[in-house]
Amino acid sequence: MTTAFYSHPDCRGHDMGEGHPECALRLDAIDDLLLATGLDIALERREAPVVTMEDLGLAHESRYVVELRDVLQRIAADGRPRYLDADTVAAPGTWAAAVRAAGAAVAATDAVIDGAVRNAFCSVRPPGHHATRAQAMGFCFFNNVAVAARHALDVRGLERVAIVDFDVHHGNGTEDIIAGDERVLMVSIFQHPLYPYSGAVPMGTNMVNVPVPPYTRGPQVRALIEENWMERLDAFRPEMIFVSAGFDAHREDELGQLGLVEADYAWITERIKGVAVKHSRGRIVSCLEGGYNLGALARSVAAHLRVLSAA
Ligand SMILES: [Zn+2]
Repeated sequence: MTTAFYSHPDCRGHDMGEGHPECALRLDAIDDLLLATGLDIALERREAPVVTMEDLGLAHESRYVVELRDVLQRIAADGRPRYLDADTVAAPGTWAAAVRAAGAAVAATDAVIDGAVRNAFCSVRPPGHHATRAQAMGFCFFNNVAVAARHALDVRGLERVAIVDFDVHHGNGTEDIIAGDERVLMVSIFQHPLYPYSGAVPMGTNMVNVPVPPYTRGPQVRALIEENWMERLDAFRPEMIFVSAGFDAHREDELGQLGLVEADYAWITERIKGVAVKHSRGRIVSCLEGGYNLGALARSVAAHLRVLSAA
């Protein structure tokens, strides 16, 4: 049984402008390191399909999906980028990238549920966890993980799924979508205060939010995860686990001030995998969120994939 690696060339065509940290070089850095380390051989590369409007509608308001599609397709046609919020730019390649990013998450979910692969990583952009039911923000347009989680529940008939989010930023969009949906348990850890400044008070009993102050390092993060996530995950017995895999809590990443290193990402992945093996037949779909220091991002993704693909 293998680990699938989903991506698509169109994910590189989304350009937020000169010098923007959320750039196509991120995916290149990941690819280069996987090739250089030989880890590539352990993965099954798959091309991400385009997501359907129906699947997007499982996590987003249908009016939002239609309006965003129209705006992004107009930008693709006229070639004029447009700001959707202060740091989220829609450019001519954004629509094509966004539908592949969400499409990767859904296709990975199907492949894992069908048993075609054991687990999957989606090396895609734009990221998704700040996209709310009806708003693009924080470099995100569609909430890839929330769309995939709802696909697993509403289309594939699973009854309980977990979402794990270890990006340095609070996954406010995912919380907006799934708070109160008792079929989902979301556990997260994030720097607080930091963009988007939410998450200190969870919006539902199905949310386990762990805000941590700047300069928190690996050992404390591990202890907090152990203390706050593990019992809840075990008691919830998820049939599948989705991961919002952001690597911007790395100590070399300048968008946050936490102190994680590659070994911490490997450890977190081991803990997630342990829950998946015990309760979820090993089913994990992990989607790239943040991570902006190219070297640290690539090494951290490699550490994550080494654990996912290990026997
Ligand atoms: Zn982030």
